[in-house]
Amino acid sequence: MNALKDQTSTVRVRFAPSPTGNLHIGGARTALFNWMYAKVQNGQFILRIEDTDLERSKQEYLEEIMFSMDWLGLKWDELYKQSDRFDIYREHAQKLLKEEKAYKDGEAIVLKMPQMPLKFTDLIRGDISFDSSEIKDQVLMKSDGSPTYSFACVVDDALMNMSCVIRGEDHISNTPKQLAIYYSLGFRPPKFAHLPLIMGEEGGRLSKRHGAVAVSEYRKMGFLPEAIVNYLMLLGWSPGNNQEIIPMASAIKNFSIRKINKTAAMFSMEKLEWINAQYIKQKDTPSLIKLIVPFLEAQGVGPQKMENGKLEQIVNLYKGRLSTLSDFMNWTDFIFADQFQLPADLKEKFFSKDLSKEFSLLKERLSQLPQFETATTEQAFRDLVAELGIKASDLVHPVRVALTGKEVGPGLFDTMSILGKETTIKRLSEAVQK
Ligand code: GLU
Repeated sequence: MNALKDQTSTVRVRFAPSPTGNLHIGGARTALFNWMYAKVQNGQFILRIEDTDLERSKQEYLEEIMFSMDWLGLKWDELYKQSDRFDIYREHAQKLLKEEKAYKDGEAIVLKMPQMPLKFTDLIRGDISFDSSEIKDQVLMKSDGSPTYSFACVVDDALMNMSCVIRGEDHISNTPKQLAIYYSLGFRPPKFAHLPLIMGEEGGRLSKRHGAVAVSEYRKMGFLPEAIVNYLMLLGWSPGNNQEIIPMASAIKNFSIRKINKTAAMFSMEKLEWINAQYIKQKDTPSLIKLIVPFLEAQGVGPQKMENGKLEQIVNLYKGRLSTLSDFMNWTDFIFADQFQLPADLKEKFFSKDLSKEFSLLKERLSQLPQFETATTEQAFRDLVAELGIKASDLVHPVRVALTGKEVGPGLFDTMSILGKETTIKRLSEAVQK
């Protein structure tokens, strides 16, 4: 029980979420920085569920937080739940009562604020001091028998031998109250490191106002855990060489609390998407297919209907263009759907000139091909435009729009080969009719 005696030099850090909501981006960054610090120091990473608010804490949030941490790869070495530890908090409050360092106020137990300098050296922000005369007596145990956040936090951080508390900057103001509790209990405080705020793109602290904040929402949008972790690392820390794609192994080698910025970090969706795109490109095709299939199924597309190798061909063609996994469907819907609507603006842009002669001839040439592949379709197309004496681009763009309903996409002949002869011919006919 005496943390002073038990304290070892081993690094022990914790992430201490309250299960009153899903794991959000800010919480995930706190978890990640603690986890990286534990890895780099060969220490222990503890997950402590701060569920002392029995009303607002929910099992579903607890499960979601653990699921999301697991998904991000932030494995913990030990797990505690504060709701299992009420006896311990009560015992410590009783001790303070006995020593007359606390008093009763009705059923509540309140700490007499010790008059002493309450200062600490934050590993990120330097020396911070508070005037204890300005801090009121602190409730330790509420009248319903539950501990307050600061009391449970201090008792646990001490008994669990935390060497350093790494948490959001919004907790700086709690630190003097917690120092007073440490000293009253006779515990030595840990080191503290308060991480800079994360701001939303329109200013202000990152919140729902700015769009998705829950890690699970990003998962559903088709972000990869490696990309989210890589992006979160950059929110307040950088390895110092402008490197942006940082494999975990090298991040762990370079991570140090002292390199964390004091200034607020800005969340940028665009940057996150760019990083995600890099990780998607790095994936080998079979792994990428495994990740994409659930997104296809959610759209009612059963890839089991697809012939062997077809999905592989499609994924290879598009993987360089995806920002997220769910993007895949936006690019390739025309492959999976029998029909699609040609957007009015594209119709206007590409079909105001009559191309029925060119389309009919192209259809004829393509239907005569014994082998319908990228190279053969391209040859047929090039021969035709040469004969007609037109520029290839005059026909490439309208044909792409007719086949895909889109103005941009990968190579036209790759696209034809994926659609196959029958669908390609059918769409060219439909375009002529329209
Ligand atoms: N449960 C607190 C929170 O979620 C933990 C703060 C701390 O790390 O001390 O903000």
